[in-house]
Amino acid sequence: MNERYDVVIIGGGPAGLAAAIGAREGGARVLVVEREAQLGGILKQCVHDGFGLMRYGEALTGPEYAARDVDRAMGLGADVALCTFVLEAHREQEGFRLVLTSRSGVREVHARSVVLATGCRERTAKQVFIHGDRPSGIFTAGCAQNLVNVQGMLPAKRVVVLGSGDIGLIMARRLTLEGAKVLGVYEARPRPSGLARNIAQCLDDFGIPLHLGTTVTRTFGRDRLEAVEVCKVDERMQPVEGTEQRIGCDGLVVSVGLIPENEVAEQLGVPMCAETHGPIVDQQLQTLVDGVFSAGNCTSVNDLVDYVSETGLRAGRAAALHALRQQGRSLREVRCGNGVASCVPQRIDFGPECGEVTFYLRSDSDYRDVEVLFVSQGEVLARKRLRAVRQAETVRVAADLGQMGNRVYVSIAGSGHVKGEGNG
Ligand SMILES: Cc1cc2nc3c(=O)[nH]c(=O)nc-3n(C[C@H](O)[C@H](O)[C@H](O)COP(=O)(O)OP(=O)(O)OC[C@H]3O[C@@H](n4cnc5c(N)ncnc54)[C@H](O)[C@@H]3O)c2cc1C
Repeated sequence: MNERYDVVIIGGGPAGLAAAIGAREGGARVLVVEREAQLGGILKQCVHDGFGLMRYGEALTGPEYAARDVDRAMGLGADVALCTFVLEAHREQEGFRLVLTSRSGVREVHARSVVLATGCRERTAKQVFIHGDRPSGIFTAGCAQNLVNVQGMLPAKRVVVLGSGDIGLIMARRLTLEGAKVLGVYEARPRPSGLARNIAQCLDDFGIPLHLGTTVTRTFGRDRLEAVEVCKVDERMQPVEGTEQRIGCDGLVVSVGLIPENEVAEQLGVPMCAETHGPIVDQQLQTLVDGVFSAGNCTSVNDLVDYVSETGLRAGRAAALHALRQQGRSLREVRCGNGVASCVPQRIDFGPECGEVTFYLRSDSDYRDVEVLFVSQGEVLARKRLRAVRQAETVRVAADLGQMGNRVYVSIAGSGHVKGEGNG
């Protein structure tokens, strides 16, 4: 069966749902393809609150946040294909051909625009080079979160957590609440990566120790994990000999970062950004392949779901516009200057409707009292003063760049570098 849509969205998490809303509001015929049995993406398993503070001014749980978008997208009449995986994606003369597989077989759909909203996946113990046996009992934080919050299982009783990002901190608290003993959170860096409020609410309130400058170097156990070895690290992140310590445990929860998931983008020949590991996009989230848009965590890893939804909505609207009225682009380049580790968008379509552009930046360190500067041809086009920026948090800045040249540099200037301090 050959089906035709204006916009096909791959991924039904918060980015994909917002894109569906944006595209339907733009008058497009929309299909959302989701490989799981339910919409909502990773939010389905995030039962803690704190989602939607910016978008709704309320602290919602992940499922509550997702439900609002599911209701809205369904209410607007988006089609949804659940338990459906995108096998192949090809460019055609006018648009794209996608090969989808599900229990009812293989089907082909054609789309004028495609929105990639495939999220990210977690780094594993192997990717951070933990030596030793590979018994059961070693989980990524997301896997442990799914077992506890969705499947109602307690995956371990004595747990070591590696990584102090927000997901690791939240899982340390969650496992404690469910009756496990969390022996400690170990973080190789000198500072915790998670939010200060999560350190207080997830560790301090439950007496869970945080060990900075320390990592897990080895696992022990034949069938089931019996112990891990932890070790201090030097400033080059190398284990310090003689500081090894063996800790008896039956669970290791690894929370060491997220990687944008971009297999479909690669199939479509979408050029990638070395800094974000996601597609290079313009301010409408259109990649360098005309008609392919990218939103949410597959574009760059976001700490706040509110930003994910914002990019999804914008990508969906622009994808609808592209499907119904294709236009040429005049792209200018955005480059990372001093203090900036990554920036989305990396291009600006400098057309007549350019106006204010929303940037999502990551700094290369923690700084206080800084200015974000946009400079082109030696001239400062826009500046924004900020009291503090943290490496682990996305900085959202809206700027009107007026008359820019072919290239604009974004940098963080006047930086009071925060050395080795606690976060917050
Ligand atoms: C374990 C974990 C816990 C997190 N906890 C928090 C938190 O507490 N608070 C917070 O603000 N953020 C959290 N995040 C960040 C979170 O990822 C984002 O806030 C948000 O969910 C990202 O939305 P997304 O739509 O880009 O991706 P996702 O929510 O990951 O959704 C992507 C969707 O795409 C689908 N998909 C992927 N590839 C295909 C394909 N080929 N075909 C069909 N479907 C596909 C996936 O099944 C998934 O449903 C967490 C992330 C992870 C990984």
